[in-house]
Amino acid sequence: MFWALFVLGHDCGHGSFSSDAKLNSVVGHFLHSSILVPYHGWRISHRTHHQNHGHVENDESWHPLPEKIYNSLDSITRKLRFSLPFPMLAYPFYLWGRSPGKKGSHFNPSSDLFLPNEKKDIITSTSCWLSMAAILAGLTCFMGPLQMLKLYFVPYGIFVMWLDFVTYLHHHGHQDKLPWYRGKEWSYLRGGLTTLDRDYGWINNIHHDIGTHVIHHLFPQIPHYHLVEATEAAKPVLGKYYREPEKSGPLPFHLLGVLARSMRVDHFVSDVGDVVYYQTDPQLSPRKSD
Ligand SMILES: [Zn+2]
Repeated sequence: MFWALFVLGHDCGHGSFSSDAKLNSVVGHFLHSSILVPYHGWRISHRTHHQNHGHVENDESWHPLPEKIYNSLDSITRKLRFSLPFPMLAYPFYLWGRSPGKKGSHFNPSSDLFLPNEKKDIITSTSCWLSMAAILAGLTCFMGPLQMLKLYFVPYGIFVMWLDFVTYLHHHGHQDKLPWYRGKEWSYLRGGLTTLDRDYGWINNIHHDIGTHVIHHLFPQIPHYHLVEATEAAKPVLGKYYREPEKSGPLPFHLLGVLARSMRVDHFVSDVGDVVYYQTDPQLSPRKSD
């Protein structure tokens, strides 16, 4: 249910829920506030992600760390970033403080993430978020912490892990190393084509076909319920540039191995070069560095 609310709010943010901008904003606030996502804050940073997908420095979520920033992290942070399950709990921390090397918060109207004319939107969304936090605090007093743990906080934790899992795998873990770009080598199309489709088996149908990620990145204005059809239509055009996802069983257990392998080998990229690939920190992966 949390996931369904997230995807519909994500459509609102892309303007594909309705052609009426006001309606997108009102519905988006209800949907995303209810799962503790600051609507405009995340909508705007997600727009930055889409506009810069595949760019080492300018991409916004799950982008690689250049070697210099990677080396500046203390060893515990480095270890936690690549030790499961910790990276799968990243979302609330990312909302609060972004990624290493970047400043600002999704809740702060003066954050680097936003333009001066977006301040008002951020204040609205942070206020809605605070109202939801107050409702949850009130309900915890009224119904007791154990009941709220069962009804809200455990589902919230599962949602965060699922969100981090799918968003990471849509940009990482292909068996062939995929490039990240900078400078003249980056283009919207090249960046979009390094995103990955994933098959989640039975889950595809209950989580709004979000595994069709390539078409979503090339055309973010397509609503979630047309993504499968649009992907089929795009495949003949994309030809060899479309990477067919590995077929899943009923449940996508194969992706756990993909995730674990990527955590073991995809640590940082070179500080220089306009086409770069993930490299492995031998200290984190002493056994194998493929
Ligand atoms: Zn999107």
